[in-house]
Amino acid sequence: MIIGLTGGIGSGKSTVARAFETLGAAWVDADDVAREIVLPGEPALVAIKQHFGDQVIHQDGTLNRPALREIVFKYPEQRQWLESVTHPTIRARLLQHLSQFEKQGEPYVLLVSPLLFESGQNELVSRCLVVDVPQSIQISRTQLRDEMSESQVHAILAAQLSREQRLAKADDVIDNSGDHASMMEQVARLDVRYRQLSAQPL
Ligand code: ADP
Repeated sequence: MIIGLTGGIGSGKSTVARAFETLGAAWVDADDVAREIVLPGEPALVAIKQHFGDQVIHQDGTLNRPALREIVFKYPEQRQWLESVTHPTIRARLLQHLSQFEKQGEPYVLLVSPLLFESGQNELVSRCLVVDVPQSIQISRTQLRDEMSESQVHAILAAQLSREQRLAKADDVIDNSGDHASMMEQVARLDVRYRQLSAQPL
């Protein structure tokens, strides 16, 4: 059973995934896979270099992320082009990782993805778990973690689903506006539930 774990930037997805891991759960992070598919030598990086030129490639051949980010935030049609190249590649690679865990006999695997719904990755999962916090907490925790300006955080928020849209698509919700203990308690309850669900015949 694959559970999609999502939430806006700074909502606590990685923190929640690590909490599940302490209970023995396996997870794959879509952001890690997104970085993996643009490493030097990967076909997606070759396509990006051909399209945008050397301005998005560092001297050592790795992707210049800030340069690329700047272009796609400014030009929505370039963002669309980039996603048309990266999304199918990410999806295929995610499926490889997920099937690896399945072969190892894991009862369930979390697919951690900030853009689970926006990217269509929700089609790969049986259930969607949303980590939810009010936007004010999202902004303050992101700023604490990343030293971003408030306007940078807002630009990222604008590219993601709204809190309401995300919650409307959730099968399960973790309220992460409280402390770590409150989050852990909710994670433990869901872990039991997911193990029960995965043991049920289809
Ligand atoms: P995401 O992966 O959704 O972007 P993170 O898991 O990195 O979010 O969490 C964002 C920041 O908020 C991190 O610095 C994390 O340590 C902190 N954080 C997460 N959950 C809590 C919580 N319940 N209480 C306080 N800080 C938290």
